[in-house]
Amino acid sequence: MDGVNARELFAAQRSLTYDDLILLPGYIDFGIEDVELSSKLTREISLSTPLCSSPMDTVTEAEMAVNLSLLGGIGFIHYNNTVEEQSQLVRRVKRYENGFITDPIVLGPDDKISDIDNVSARHGFSGIPITDTGDLGGKLIGIVTNRDIDFEQNREIPLREVMTTDLVTAPQGIELREANRVIRESKRGKLPIVDAGGRLVALVSRTDLKKNRDFPDSVKDDRKRLLAGAALSTRPDDRERLDALVEAGVDVIVIDSAQGNSSFQVNMLRHVKQAYPDLQVIAGNVVTQQQCAALVAAGADAIRVGMGPGSICTTQETMAVGRGQAAAVYHCSLHCREQGVPVLADGGVRDIGHIVKALAMGASTVMMGLMFAGTAETPGEYFYQNGVRLKRYRGMASIEAMESGGGKRYFAEEEKIKVAQGVSGMVMDKGSVRNLVPYLKQGLRHALQDIGVRSIPALHSALTSGDLTFELRTMSAQREGGVHDMYSYEKPALGARESN
Ligand code: GDP
Ligand code: GDP
Ligand code: 5GP
Repeated sequence: MDGVNARELFAAQRSLTYDDLILLPGYIDFGIEDVELSSKLTREISLSTPLCSSPMDTVTEAEMAVNLSLLGGIGFIHYNNTVEEQSQLVRRVKRYENGFITDPIVLGPDDKISDIDNVSARHGFSGIPITDTGDLGGKLIGIVTNRDIDFEQNREIPLREVMTTDLVTAPQGIELREANRVIRESKRGKLPIVDAGGRLVALVSRTDLKKNRDFPDSVKDDRKRLLAGAALSTRPDDRERLDALVEAGVDVIVIDSAQGNSSFQVNMLRHVKQAYPDLQVIAGNVVTQQQCAALVAAGADAIRVGMGPGSICTTQETMAVGRGQAAAVYHCSLHCREQGVPVLADGGVRDIGHIVKALAMGASTVMMGLMFAGTAETPGEYFYQNGVRLKRYRGMASIEAMESGGGKRYFAEEEKIKVAQGVSGMVMDKGSVRNLVPYLKQGLRHALQDIGVRSIPALHSALTSGDLTFELRTMSAQREGGVHDMYSYEKPALGARESN
């Protein structure tokens, strides 16, 4: 047989990275459309796209998280902010799409149009049910939508004068499917749900039917809300942050630490699992089986692997500690698979091929900062330098990020002399993740087809059985594998990428 299997590949205990190896092709007897990309993020949560965005303050806030979740992945909201700011971002993700909105914003007949303007500015919607008390549970007397107020100059008019009172409602207890039918047939934008006494108990929005139709891969909870992830540090006072995130509806927490095998992390992990047994927790970062064992024993629902492969990262240079990312993912996955705990491969992904290799090393999902940096959905503004449109991207352990709070991850917060483990810089405009993610997914499907497997679990089975084969790449093989000997060329966009 050509090539070697993974066990043989790693027998020499070399710190291999993704670029050091290549997968040998298998047999194709199925179409690209037969390739399935769903995969486990944690013990209990599955994604339809195995892609996550890093909890970094130049990568993931609500807009990134909403869009990745719509596309079947998930974003982890960073914690380089106040507890209120972070939980508000989680709340925005959870409010974006709904089945029954069980806590709709409600106003009363004496409130003003300007109150609707305030709700609209804060939450982005303006379809507001009006009850006699101004609260959920009050008797429904009308509804105000944008069309009732958009041409009204005087914003001090009370809502009783502009509200629509000719209402289509549905009774409490109606199935969502049925409520959706009513909303479609009545052609209304909102369907208030009322109890037998005419009191408002929930709201259904037509926009959500469209969102559901337009994003068939989106990952949602049992109330049809998008899944939201958020990061937490290992410091004991972040227990308060945890409570606020749970209150905001977070589905999965990542305990963010550069060296995850610490008493701080184990204590935090135990605390989270004890306080919120149903909350999924990803622990890390780790690169060895011993580190995995400690975190799995403390209750981790997934393990995040990577120490030093990040594009903005200087850990391996500065600390001399870490591991080549392919070796780290392989060895950790080997241990975690026996425990039934999925592995998330974090960092060092520059291209679709690196995602494929991470999955082929046993990871179930892949976390990326660089890949998403510079997209429209990241925080921060675009700017121009030498005519190129750029955005900032920085490591959370760069001096700049630590000074605004990111040092929590590196135990560096109280230290007088801060040793940076990351850099701060710029990346090119990559357009929207709404174009980037479908491109990555299609690339992944082609890769799995070339390998001869129809799904990520099938890829993992081939890895375990030894059917998946590899070769090491020499330096000249790596050179040959890239574009070479051209006078000039344009590389097709991962988003918009540099031409050479
Ligand atoms: P099932 O489990 O296969 O029956 O289907 P789903 O659970 O996906 O959806 C149940 C019903 O809810 C269907 O009519 C969907 O169209 C609808 N649905 C799914 N997502 C949403 C959403 O976000 N909002 C609303 N209002 N309806 C949704
Ligand atoms: P509107 O017509 O201005 O209310 O806005 P849209 O109908 O375009 O969008 C409303 C979106 O916000 C839907 O996806 C809702 O699920 C979501 N949403 C979340 N919470 C609320 C709420 O309390 N009230 C309303 N009206 N929408 C909400
Ligand atoms: P990238 O996708 O850019 O290669 O890597 C992103 C990952 O790098 C993040 O998910 C996180 O684990 C890690 N990271 C983020 N900031 C820093 C930093 O300042 N230093 C180090 N060592 N790693 C970082």
